[in-house]
Amino acid sequence: MKFASINPRTGEVGREFSSSTEKQVKEAVEKASEAQSVWWSEHTKADRIAVLKAAETVFHRASGELVDIIHQEIGLPKETITSSFNGALSGIKYYSDRYAALGDRMFPLDPVAWPNTQATIRYEPHGVIGQIGIWNYPFWQTMITTIPALLTGNAIVFKPSSYTTMTGLRIAELLREAGLPEGVFEPIVGGAEVGKLLVRSKVDALVFTGGIASGKDIARNAGIKPMILELSGNDAGIVCSDADPDQAARGVATGTFLRAGQICVRIKRVYLHKDVSVQFIRRLLDIASHLNLDEKVGPMISAEARDHVDKVVHDAVRKGGKLLLGGKARDGPGFFYEPTVLLLENDRLEVMGKETFGPVCSIKVVDSEEEAVSLANASEYGLGATVWTRDMEKANRLASKLQVGNVWINEWGRSLVCGEYFQGCKSSGIASSQERLMMFLKKKTVITHYTSEARPSWFK
Ligand code: NAD
Repeated sequence: MKFASINPRTGEVGREFSSSTEKQVKEAVEKASEAQSVWWSEHTKADRIAVLKAAETVFHRASGELVDIIHQEIGLPKETITSSFNGALSGIKYYSDRYAALGDRMFPLDPVAWPNTQATIRYEPHGVIGQIGIWNYPFWQTMITTIPALLTGNAIVFKPSSYTTMTGLRIAELLREAGLPEGVFEPIVGGAEVGKLLVRSKVDALVFTGGIASGKDIARNAGIKPMILELSGNDAGIVCSDADPDQAARGVATGTFLRAGQICVRIKRVYLHKDVSVQFIRRLLDIASHLNLDEKVGPMISAEARDHVDKVVHDAVRKGGKLLLGGKARDGPGFFYEPTVLLLENDRLEVMGKETFGPVCSIKVVDSEEEAVSLANASEYGLGATVWTRDMEKANRLASKLQVGNVWINEWGRSLVCGEYFQGCKSSGIASSQERLMMFLKKKTVITHYTSEARPSWFK
């Protein structure tokens, strides 16, 4: 099947690709499997760290070119692409240092119950990881898996999102240029149908970033294998009665409209305390109405995505929502959508009850913070939430009650180095609460008795 990259700023059709065939996917997995056994058993830890450090240099040298490619494929302002690019590369030092210090672990045994015996927990790679990528952070989201997975001796078969195929292919070339042996990072290309082939292939583990519906399909098709699913979010922003309206409005505006709202942890529904509602809404509208669409917000990924956002916004308006700002596509080329602010009474309408992946701020005014938390939790999503307040005791109380994997207090969207401990709960994903390095290692328990005596309890 043929598909093409389309520039979301202009709508122009760029390079054309042919999807990988079933045979090519199978061959890529076989090639990666052979390369992985060498990468793990014939290269030392130090060798792998050296290759990743060389990759850091190569990627920094190629940063201008890669940022240009990403800009062409997803259209977002270069400033935001560059910052996530550099953030991802900082993970190489972080994970290399941690991996250098990681060794097998002795498990303490009671010498009376376990005479002459030792137990060791060994860490070994899964083997070949099938990695299915996403377009909204095509470098960051790729590297937060690729860095720890390669360091720990895995190989990867990588399918980038079809929207960011050029980025994915270039990442693969640059890793080779840094000295990564052939086959250790094998790209395949295409859309969901190629992703499905990878899921059903003989890969040893899967890492997927994308929507909940796709994640559920993957869980059904994968069979029994370790799986990391990083899925959709519908993050609540809780603006408390004592919030600083200026700080909260600036934080929420950024957390809503940056990258045209196409961020998993974008603030997608605002529960606004009635005591600050007037000042907050006035300030938010002031910010949103002055945002430069080209330089600060950027276009949406496709005409279909933009039209879907427009549909759910107008559905909400038809059902009683008040449109305070925006609510339309920008005239002219590209897939731009105007920053939109909606005031709703019913937070179950699709625009607020489900993830809306676009520049839309849906607000419901509430009477108390307890009501806000209860509405925030009444959802299948559990990725993140933000709390805006000057009262730290209250902030921590609300943070404990929120059923999500990440909470920001008077802050939004910043993650720890290279995605460390970034995780969703409920339907937003399975990432486990481990450090990322440990997600790519399986644990083998080895119990060794040193003498030739039989245990007294054994059959005679
Ligand atoms: P999507 O699920 O449609 O596609 C994501 C990737 O999966 C693509 O590479 C696609 O080709 C592939 N794919 C789709 N269906 C598949 C299937 N059934 N089997 C195998 N592969 C399949 O995602 P999208 O709508 O393009 O992306 C936006 C979503 O990603 C949003 O919901 C967003 O919240 C989420 N996201 C989550 C995180 C996170 O860390 N939790 C990060 C970024 C984006």
